[in-house]
Amino acid sequence: MTERIQIPFVDLQAQYKTIAKEINAAIQGVLDRSDYVLGEEVGLFEEDFAKFIGTTQAIGVGSGLDALELALRAYGIGPGDEVITAANTYIATVLAIIAAGARPVLVDMDPSTYNISPNAIEAAITPRTRGIMPVHLYGQPADMEPILAIARKNKIIVIEDAAQAHGAMYANRRAGTWGHAAAFSFYPGKNLGAYGDGGAVTTNDPAIAEKIRQLRNYGQRVKYEHVVAGTNSRLDTIQAAILRVKLRHLDVWNAARQRHAAAYNALLAGGPYVLPRVAAQRTHIFHLYVIETDNRRHAQEFLSARGIATGIHYPIPIHMQEACKDLGYRYGEFPATEAAANRILSLPMYPELTEEQLEYVASSLLESSAKSSTSTIRETTS
Ligand SMILES: *Cc1c(COP(=O)(O)O)cnc(C)c1O
Repeated sequence: MTERIQIPFVDLQAQYKTIAKEINAAIQGVLDRSDYVLGEEVGLFEEDFAKFIGTTQAIGVGSGLDALELALRAYGIGPGDEVITAANTYIATVLAIIAAGARPVLVDMDPSTYNISPNAIEAAITPRTRGIMPVHLYGQPADMEPILAIARKNKIIVIEDAAQAHGAMYANRRAGTWGHAAAFSFYPGKNLGAYGDGGAVTTNDPAIAEKIRQLRNYGQRVKYEHVVAGTNSRLDTIQAAILRVKLRHLDVWNAARQRHAAAYNALLAGGPYVLPRVAAQRTHIFHLYVIETDNRRHAQEFLSARGIATGIHYPIPIHMQEACKDLGYRYGEFPATEAAANRILSLPMYPELTEEQLEYVASSLLESSAKSSTSTIRETTS
């Protein structure tokens, strides 16, 4: 009976259906102009996005990874420099630091928000520290005031990884306005997602913005005059046209995610879970709705059998990734990150979720916990 219900983790088709006319017209406009590389829509989107975030500058680039790397390079952060970031992030944060030639220095998270711990940052500062890269994980801004205080005291650069936080607020200002610069990803599943890859850097520093514009376009100042060994990382014009349409809906979509999170919170209250906590002075835009459970594997299998997709963000902390073994970290160094990695579970979250779907997910999860509680008691007492 319930077997045919399918609740994907993210539903990009459902969203496209609600804006198909606008999107199709925007793409047609680019086809009519045929200005495919750094065309009109790129500049227009950059203006709209800067205005939305609240910075004077936004620079469209090829991906979130590139946005992070080019921001570091624009500030001259590279070989010999250390950049502090979280052990519990998506690997792109760390790969961007490595790509810039700098050394990632990992620190543990605050277990109540999953965001980087300012105290741990302070303890990790060395004479080589040139940057801090806080990640606004799951859509909740990191604790920027203490992070910026540490940065000012030590004269280091802060580059926000805002890839999961388009529109989120900290103390009434958007994520992406707090650091020297911030990087956004427009990967399709992000809160503001393109229909392919894309990214942007925001900053209030016009000189840095100019450097990033050069770096993304072969280090060119004017055509065929190359002043730095740049790269090819330009936000695609068709993607910019799509993003410009979608940006107009973003606040409404984020509000829908917040309502869904509140619904999950109410439905799951009293269950054997740690539910997401939103710290003071922050708006969480729920890129991901992440709970903690003792019975994750069972819960995932149970939900999957009911047609409900779930995720884990992220199952392997950065210091345990094979790609990062040269960093020389060992298991046990980041206990909060390690403990959470074994317990976190992301439930379906996208603006188009219906009340019935939310109820079905929550009741299925509660049922999975009821069914597993006996075996858990046996396991823990044996
Ligand atoms: C998605 C993401 C990135 C990378 O973005 P891409 O556009 O996929 O390169 C970086 N950091 C975080 C935290 C992300 O979630």
